Amino acid sequence: MGMFAEIITIGDELLTGNTVDSNSAFIAQKLTEKGYWVRRITTVGDDVEEIKTVVREVLSREPEVLVIAGGLGPTHDDVTMLAVARALNLELELREDILKRIEEFYLELYKKGFVDDPKINEARKKMAYIPRGVEILNNTVGAAPGAFLIYKNTKIFVLPGMPREMKAMFENEVSPKLGKGKFIQRKLLAEITDESKLAPLLVEALNRFNIKIHSSPKGFGKYIGIILFGESEDEIERARRFIEERGIKFEEV
Ligand code: ATP
Ligand code: MG
Repeated sequence: MGMFAEIITIGDELLTGNTVDSNSAFIAQKLTEKGYWVRRITTVGDDVEEIKTVVREVLSREPEVLVIAGGLGPTHDDVTMLAVARALNLELELREDILKRIEEFYLELYKKGFVDDPKINEARKKMAYIPRGVEILNNTVGAAPGAFLIYKNTKIFVLPGMPREMKAMFENEVSPKLGKGKFIQRKLLAEITDESKLAPLLVEALNRFNIKIHSSPKGFGKYIGIILFGESEDEIERARRFIEERGIKFEEV
């Protein structure tokens, strides 16, 4: 049902557990609100071959949307643009317009006393190398731009890893390109303590209605939390009534 999406987060610090991957949770929430089912979230390290391989794997599943986040910065370990270029057989090219923007960005930081040197160096210049033919996504918070391209039927977004930069770019640049689809989520509490009694009813509801269901027990209390997801309010209501008619009492959350 519906459109599907995948997310790739990139960074060695995610694999060592030094950084908790909050980016994928943010992106997954936003995509869900926009009407996409996020089918997979994959995390890989800062490694060109590894990133290239996983990008190709994801594209072979033909999602409508692929969001990639992390590894766009100036340091040697930031290799995402190169890896994406390799995955798609695109050349990296030096974009003079981006180089100019990066120059201005560091000049601004220098004037404010945040960096010692305003000049472009190799590390900063690195961020101006972008796969040929992609659309640039503006970074309103940091130096490194993102990228947007369409491969077959997949919209691919490449975003920075710094959560502040990633979020701003998602809101300003990604969201408008995702269309107006919307998922409705209805959160309910079922007055039942045993999830196994509820399980067969949920399976029946899933088979009958065009919805998805998440259920999670709320400790050993008297409720089980249920979220009904779907594209239509009516369909969700029909599913809710169906379960209710089989003896489950609901409270809205
Ligand atoms: P930078 O210019 O800062 O290097 P970048 O695009 O290369 O930007 P990363 O190097 O991947 O981003 O990460 C920069 C910072 O953002 C690090 O502090 C990192 O821990 C944090 N970060 C990266 N990815 C995530 C993530 N998925 N969830 C939460 N924090 C993240
Ligand atoms: Mg970095």
